[in-house]
Amino acid sequence: METKTGVFICSGCEIGNCINAELTRNVATDEYKVANAVIHPALCSPEGYDLILNNIAENKLDAVLIAACSPRVKTNVFDFNENILLERVNLREQLAWCFEPNDEDTQMAADDYLRMGLAKVKTIKIPTPYIAENISSQILVAGGGVSGMSAAIEGAKAGYTVHLVEKENTLGGKQKDMYKQYPSEAPFNKLTEPVLGNMLDEIKKYNNIEVYTSTAIQEINGEPGAFDVKLQNGSVQELRVGAVVAAMGWKPYNPNNLTHLGYGKSKNVITIVEFEKKVKENPDLKLPKNILFIQCAGSRDKDHLPYCSSYCCSTSLKQTKYIRDLSPDSSVFVVYKDIRTLGLGEEFYKEVQKDDQVFFTKGEIDEVFVQEENIEIKVKETLLGEDISLSVDLVILATGMIPASTEDLNLNYRQGKGLPELKYNFSDSHFICFPYETRRTGIYAAGSVRSPMDISACLEDASGAMFKAIQCIEATKRGEAVHPRSGDKSFPELFMDRCADCKRCTEECPFGAYDETEKGTPLPNTSRCRRCGICLGSCPERIISFSDYSINSISAMIKAVEIPDEFEEKPRILVFVCENDAYPAMDMAGIKRLKYSSYVRVIPVRCLGSINKVWISDALSCGYDGILQIGCKPGDDYQCHFIHGSELTQTRSENFQETLQSMMLEPERISTEFVEITDYHKIPELINNYVEIIEDIGPNPFKDM
Ligand code: SF4
Ligand code: SF4
Repeated sequence: METKTGVFICSGCEIGNCINAELTRNVATDEYKVANAVIHPALCSPEGYDLILNNIAENKLDAVLIAACSPRVKTNVFDFNENILLERVNLREQLAWCFEPNDEDTQMAADDYLRMGLAKVKTIKIPTPYIAENISSQILVAGGGVSGMSAAIEGAKAGYTVHLVEKENTLGGKQKDMYKQYPSEAPFNKLTEPVLGNMLDEIKKYNNIEVYTSTAIQEINGEPGAFDVKLQNGSVQELRVGAVVAAMGWKPYNPNNLTHLGYGKSKNVITIVEFEKKVKENPDLKLPKNILFIQCAGSRDKDHLPYCSSYCCSTSLKQTKYIRDLSPDSSVFVVYKDIRTLGLGEEFYKEVQKDDQVFFTKGEIDEVFVQEENIEIKVKETLLGEDISLSVDLVILATGMIPASTEDLNLNYRQGKGLPELKYNFSDSHFICFPYETRRTGIYAAGSVRSPMDISACLEDASGAMFKAIQCIEATKRGEAVHPRSGDKSFPELFMDRCADCKRCTEECPFGAYDETEKGTPLPNTSRCRRCGICLGSCPERIISFSDYSINSISAMIKAVEIPDEFEEKPRILVFVCENDAYPAMDMAGIKRLKYSSYVRVIPVRCLGSINKVWISDALSCGYDGILQIGCKPGDDYQCHFIHGSELTQTRSENFQETLQSMMLEPERISTEFVEITDYHKIPELINNYVEIIEDIGPNPFKDM
């Protein structure tokens, strides 16, 4: 059935002074035969809102096209009945505020944008959400250290049933071997008892926490809302949970790699982890007279761990403090690259510095000579400006942390059993915009498996991950996506009759949403999907679509633009703009009133990775002179919100170049740029430069065909 659409054009916020809104309305009424097309001076005002609402009711509209400000703003105002299809055309930030007012080209752009909006409305539908069957609100926490226990407590407090699984025979993780804890509260000058005791007591108070010790996760199948978990502890126990918190913790860096610091050459060279355990087991231990801490032992070192583990400085300070308390005759030396105490932890550092039997110096360990009972250390580049030698009885190496393996999750995903990892093997997350998110939807990493961190940070992290898990369950119940398209109810639908079993979608989905048959046929797990559209971009058969984002809807927008003929010398540049960083950057350029060429026609895309080759050939055969793709930066410290969408665009550009070659077109007719959200000031130069390149090449020969 034909959609009955109402068009509402706002002439406020300079739009009416920039274009002739009447002419733009004529596009709707004359070309698209829209019966209800209205111009209003402030659509977002109460009167404007009422006008739209009354129009919907009187004319029984089922779609509303608002041509006004950016779709990123006033979303609370332009919010109608959920059965009304809403599409917004950006005539403010990306037109009136960045193009010359009352100019022929600006008017042409406004008319084209309205055409594109109307063409889109004709080809999209309101999404009907996918809701998995038998959704569970229970949560699995993998790992019973402080992060896992804390996550479980937070989940239980929020009223969710939590299954806390630990492979060892007791809860506690590394805390079991902890003698004292670094202060985490004002006045930050006293060591505290480890939090473990209190946490164990607290866990007992909640009857919605099920603890499983000596238990392994044999398998996790399914998707958010409906993960089927098999636990193995003699017998197999099956659970259904809605989300998972992965809190596997960390392992100390292998000190056997630190022989240059004396490890393995003397029993009197040990690590901070070994020392803590020793004191915990025997606090009456006789401590030697002279003790040296070597900070960053194998950390911030390109041959070992290149990063800072953030807990080792505070641990050495803590140990220094209790050494002095337990053994007033002992002196402590600390040689460091930098002392890094986080936040108010600096107060404790100052407290330790007050002790005149504790000596701190910056310096580099030059040599370590292990003799029978004592150890000689040469330190160079010290703060004193000269090399020093120390003779000590015990060396404690402040070694860093490496993340525990997440393979123990035993995920039954085609991409592997564990969580994908960043460069240093920490579980992946988009650390810039949304920590805790891993590349496996519904599974949230917490604590030092996610990033090196100390106990207070782990406790905070555990709450964050648990809240994300809860958010995921609730969103899944409503059939909505989680970050970064939170609230999106659309999902990929596959027209399987034409599937060629090529496996591109299963291989390129960054979130492992597709399993596959032996033959390679995709088996979607819809709730794992983040709605990026990368599979839509990858599918050569063009059989993947969303109800409001599809091959047809974008093709219709591309084709709706009126392409001037070559003699008019008005090139048309199609700009695919990623909605995550590039589109807001373009809006911001408008807000700052930065001007750029009005020859561009912008189409927002969910991710550059969602651009299907067919859109490129459609645009070129329609006569666009150039295609510019603007997306988030690719790379290891990725900013691409869909992990590798931007990278895929680069890989696929070979395909695009083939399209150009087959059409005998110049390679410059497709170009890709990457921007951050803060790069709005680069937008005019980036667009204008590309327009110049295209003007130099000349018009697309397909223009008049
Ligand atoms: S839309 Fe993105 S997350 Fe969803 S299945 Fe396709 S590629 Fe995977
Ligand atoms: S990319 Fe398309 S054709 Fe290939 S397996 Fe996936 S759905 Fe089938």
